[in-house]
Amino acid sequence: MKLLIATRNPHKLEEMQQILPAAGIQWVSALDFPEIPDVIEDGKTLEANAIKKAVTLALATGLYALADDTGLEVDALEGAPGVYSARYAGEPPDYAANNRKLLAELASKDSRSAQFRTVIALSDPSGHAQIVEGVCRGEIAESMSGTAGFGYDPLFVPEGETRTFAEMSADEKNRISHRGRALRAAMGAWGEQLIQLAAAEGRQQ
Ligand code: IMP
Repeated sequence: MKLLIATRNPHKLEEMQQILPAAGIQWVSALDFPEIPDVIEDGKTLEANAIKKAVTLALATGLYALADDTGLEVDALEGAPGVYSARYAGEPPDYAANNRKLLAELASKDSRSAQFRTVIALSDPSGHAQIVEGVCRGEIAESMSGTAGFGYDPLFVPEGETRTFAEMSADEKNRISHRGRALRAAMGAWGEQLIQLAAAEGRQQ
Protein backbone atom coordinates (compact mmCIF):
# COMPACT_ATOMS: atom_id res chain seq x y z
CA MET A 1 0.00 0.00 0.00
CA LYS A 2 1.23 3.48 -0.88
CA LEU A 3 1.07 6.25 1.72
CA LEU A 4 1.68 9.78 0.51
CA ILE A 5 3.62 12.31 2.59
CA ALA A 6 2.40 15.76 1.62
CA THR A 7 5.77 17.50 1.41
CA ARG A 8 8.36 18.31 -1.22
CA ASN A 9 11.02 18.82 1.45
CA PRO A 10 13.44 15.83 1.30
CA HIS A 11 14.62 16.43 4.91
CA LYS A 12 11.08 16.24 6.28
CA LEU A 13 10.44 13.14 4.22
CA GLU A 14 13.50 11.38 5.58
CA GLU A 15 12.64 12.35 9.17
CA MET A 16 9.06 11.10 8.78
CA GLN A 17 10.13 7.82 7.15
CA GLN A 18 12.62 7.18 9.97
CA ILE A 19 10.06 7.61 12.72
CA LEU A 20 7.14 5.98 10.88
CA PRO A 21 8.32 2.61 9.58
CA ALA A 22 5.29 0.38 9.00
CA ALA A 23 5.22 -3.10 7.50
CA GLY A 24 3.97 -3.27 3.91
CA ILE A 25 3.77 0.49 3.47
CA GLN A 26 5.51 2.14 0.56
CA TRP A 27 6.17 5.83 1.20
CA VAL A 28 5.73 8.27 -1.64
CA SER A 29 5.86 12.05 -1.45
CA ALA A 30 4.54 15.11 -3.25
CA LEU A 31 7.86 14.99 -5.16
CA ASP A 32 6.47 11.92 -6.97
CA PHE A 33 3.48 13.99 -8.17
CA PRO A 34 5.01 17.09 -9.79
CA GLU A 35 1.78 17.75 -11.71
CA ILE A 36 -0.14 18.50 -8.48
CA PRO A 37 0.21 22.22 -7.59
CA ASP A 38 1.51 23.22 -4.12
CA VAL A 39 -1.30 23.56 -1.60
CA ILE A 40 -1.64 27.17 -0.40
CA GLU A 41 -1.34 27.24 3.39
CA ASP A 42 -3.90 29.96 4.07
CA GLY A 43 -5.59 28.41 7.13
CA LYS A 44 -5.93 30.38 10.38
CA THR A 45 -4.75 27.40 12.45
CA LEU A 46 -2.12 24.68 12.21
CA GLU A 47 -4.98 22.15 12.20
CA ALA A 48 -6.68 23.80 9.19
CA ASN A 49 -3.46 23.85 7.17
CA ALA A 50 -2.50 20.24 7.97
CA ILE A 51 -6.00 18.99 7.09
CA LYS A 52 -6.15 21.06 3.89
CA LYS A 53 -2.80 19.65 2.70
CA ALA A 54 -3.64 16.03 3.57
CA VAL A 55 -7.16 16.11 2.10
CA THR A 56 -6.11 17.92 -1.12
CA LEU A 57 -3.33 15.42 -1.78
CA ALA A 58 -5.48 12.39 -0.88
CA LEU A 59 -8.31 13.48 -3.21
CA ALA A 60 -5.86 14.29 -6.03
CA THR A 61 -4.07 10.93 -5.85
CA GLY A 62 -6.59 8.45 -4.43
CA LEU A 63 -4.03 7.53 -1.72
CA TYR A 64 -3.93 7.89 2.06
CA ALA A 65 -2.02 11.14 2.70
CA LEU A 66 -0.18 12.51 5.73
CA ALA A 67 0.58 16.23 6.18
CA ASP A 68 2.06 18.34 8.98
CA ASP A 69 2.10 21.98 10.01
CA THR A 70 4.25 23.47 12.75
CA GLY A 71 4.30 26.76 14.60
CA LEU A 72 6.20 28.44 17.44
CA GLU A 73 3.70 29.68 20.04
CA VAL A 74 5.08 32.27 22.48
CA ASP A 75 3.03 32.78 25.65
CA ALA A 76 3.82 36.51 26.13
CA LEU A 77 2.84 37.13 22.48
CA GLU A 78 -0.54 35.38 22.84
CA GLY A 79 0.58 32.42 20.77
CA ALA A 80 2.32 34.39 17.98
CA PRO A 81 3.95 33.77 15.57
CA GLY A 82 1.97 30.46 15.59
CA VAL A 83 0.53 29.53 12.20
CA TYR A 84 2.44 32.50 10.70
CA SER A 85 5.87 31.29 11.92
CA ALA A 86 7.43 30.91 8.45
CA ARG A 87 6.62 34.51 7.42
CA TYR A 88 6.77 36.27 10.81
CA ALA A 89 9.08 39.04 9.49
CA GLY A 90 7.34 39.18 6.07
CA GLU A 91 7.97 37.82 2.58
CA PRO A 92 10.06 36.06 1.46
CA PRO A 93 10.44 33.75 4.49
CA ASP A 94 13.75 34.56 6.23
CA TYR A 95 14.88 32.61 9.32
CA ALA A 96 17.40 35.26 10.50
CA ALA A 97 14.88 38.12 10.14
CA ASN A 98 12.23 36.06 11.99
CA ASN A 99 14.64 35.43 14.87
CA ARG A 100 15.59 39.13 15.07
CA LYS A 101 11.92 40.13 15.13
CA LEU A 102 11.18 37.60 17.88
CA LEU A 103 14.03 38.94 20.04
CA ALA A 104 12.80 42.52 19.51
CA GLU A 105 9.18 41.62 20.40
CA LEU A 106 10.30 39.89 23.61
CA ALA A 107 12.74 42.61 24.75
CA SER A 108 10.11 44.28 26.96
CA LYS A 109 8.40 41.08 28.20
CA ASP A 110 8.95 39.33 31.53
CA SER A 111 8.08 35.83 30.35
CA ARG A 112 9.98 34.01 27.60
CA SER A 113 8.11 30.70 27.80
CA ALA A 114 6.99 29.18 24.50
CA GLN A 115 6.20 25.94 22.73
CA PHE A 116 6.64 24.39 19.34
CA ARG A 117 3.50 22.59 18.21
CA THR A 118 3.19 20.21 15.27
CA VAL A 119 -0.16 19.01 13.97
CA ILE A 120 -0.22 15.95 11.70
CA ALA A 121 -3.30 15.08 9.64
CA LEU A 122 -4.03 11.76 7.95
CA SER A 123 -6.64 11.76 5.20
CA ASP A 124 -8.19 8.66 3.67
CA PRO A 125 -8.64 8.57 -0.13
CA SER A 126 -12.17 9.97 0.17
CA GLY A 127 -11.02 13.06 2.13
CA HIS A 128 -11.89 12.10 5.71
CA ALA A 129 -9.13 13.39 8.01
CA GLN A 130 -7.98 12.73 11.58
CA ILE A 131 -5.34 14.72 13.48
CA VAL A 132 -2.74 14.24 16.23
CA GLU A 133 -0.32 16.79 17.72
CA GLY A 134 3.08 16.97 19.39
CA VAL A 135 4.22 19.76 21.72
CA CYS A 136 7.68 20.71 22.97
CA ARG A 137 7.72 23.39 25.68
CA GLY A 138 10.71 25.62 26.36
CA GLU A 139 12.07 29.16 26.59
CA ILE A 140 13.21 31.74 24.06
CA ALA A 141 16.88 32.54 24.75
CA GLU A 142 18.17 36.15 24.98
CA SER A 143 20.45 35.62 21.98
CA MET A 144 21.05 33.04 19.24
CA SER A 145 23.33 30.03 19.78
CA GLY A 146 24.24 27.07 17.59
CA THR A 147 24.27 26.36 13.89
CA ALA A 148 22.36 23.05 13.53
CA GLY A 149 18.71 22.73 12.53
CA PHE A 150 16.70 25.55 11.00
CA GLY A 151 14.11 28.22 11.69
CA TYR A 152 13.87 29.30 15.33
CA ASP A 153 16.23 26.53 16.55
CA PRO A 154 19.04 28.97 17.58
CA LEU A 155 16.62 30.68 20.03
CA PHE A 156 14.66 27.73 21.42
CA VAL A 157 15.85 26.05 24.63
CA PRO A 158 13.64 23.00 25.33
CA GLU A 159 12.43 22.42 28.90
CA GLY A 160 15.06 20.67 31.07
CA GLU A 161 17.91 21.68 28.72
CA THR A 162 20.49 24.45 28.77
CA ARG A 163 21.29 24.26 25.05
CA THR A 164 19.20 25.48 22.12
CA PHE A 165 17.88 23.03 19.49
CA ALA A 166 20.57 24.47 17.18
CA GLU A 167 23.26 23.18 19.58
CA MET A 168 21.93 19.59 19.48
CA SER A 169 22.43 16.72 17.06
CA ALA A 170 19.47 15.76 14.85
CA ASP A 171 18.96 12.60 16.94
CA GLU A 172 18.91 14.53 20.22
CA LYS A 173 16.40 17.01 18.77
CA ASN A 174 14.14 14.28 17.29
CA ARG A 175 13.88 12.52 20.65
CA ILE A 176 12.25 15.53 22.33
CA SER A 177 10.98 17.72 19.51
CA HIS A 178 7.38 18.61 18.69
CA ARG A 179 7.69 16.90 15.29
CA GLY A 180 9.21 13.74 16.78
CA ARG A 181 6.43 13.60 19.37
CA ALA A 182 3.70 14.22 16.78
CA LEU A 183 5.12 11.50 14.52
CA ARG A 184 5.23 9.01 17.38
CA ALA A 185 1.63 9.97 18.28
CA ALA A 186 0.67 9.40 14.63
CA MET A 187 2.30 5.99 14.69
CA GLY A 188 0.47 5.11 17.93
CA ALA A 189 -2.90 6.31 16.61
CA TRP A 190 -2.78 5.05 13.03
CA GLY A 191 0.13 2.60 12.66
CA GLU A 192 -1.90 -0.55 13.31
CA GLN A 193 -4.78 0.58 11.07
CA LEU A 194 -2.35 1.32 8.20
CA ILE A 195 -0.49 -1.97 8.61
CA GLN A 196 -3.81 -3.85 8.46
CA LEU A 197 -4.92 -1.92 5.37
CA ALA A 198 -1.58 -2.71 3.72
CA ALA A 199 -1.93 -6.41 4.60
CA ALA A 200 -5.51 -6.51 3.22
CA GLU A 201 -4.36 -4.84 -0.01
CA GLY A 202 -1.47 -7.32 -0.25
CA ARG A 203 -3.91 -10.26 0.03
CA GLN A 204 -6.05 -8.85 -2.79
CA GLN A 205 -3.06 -8.65 -5.18
P1 IMP B 1 6.51 23.97 8.77
O1 IMP B 1 5.04 23.89 9.00
O2 IMP B 1 7.23 22.74 9.21
O3 IMP B 1 6.86 24.39 7.38
O4 IMP B 1 7.05 25.11 9.75
C1 IMP B 1 6.68 26.49 9.63
C2 IMP B 1 7.79 27.36 10.21
O5 IMP B 1 7.93 27.09 11.61
C3 IMP B 1 9.16 27.12 9.60
O6 IMP B 1 9.37 27.92 8.46
C4 IMP B 1 10.09 27.52 10.75
O7 IMP B 1 10.26 28.90 10.77
C5 IMP B 1 9.31 27.10 11.97
N1 IMP B 1 9.68 25.74 12.41
C6 IMP B 1 9.01 24.58 12.17
N2 IMP B 1 9.62 23.54 12.75
C7 IMP B 1 10.71 24.04 13.36
C8 IMP B 1 11.76 23.45 14.13
O8 IMP B 1 11.82 22.23 14.36
N3 IMP B 1 12.71 24.29 14.58
C9 IMP B 1 12.68 25.63 14.35
N4 IMP B 1 11.74 26.23 13.64
C10 IMP B 1 10.75 25.44 13.14
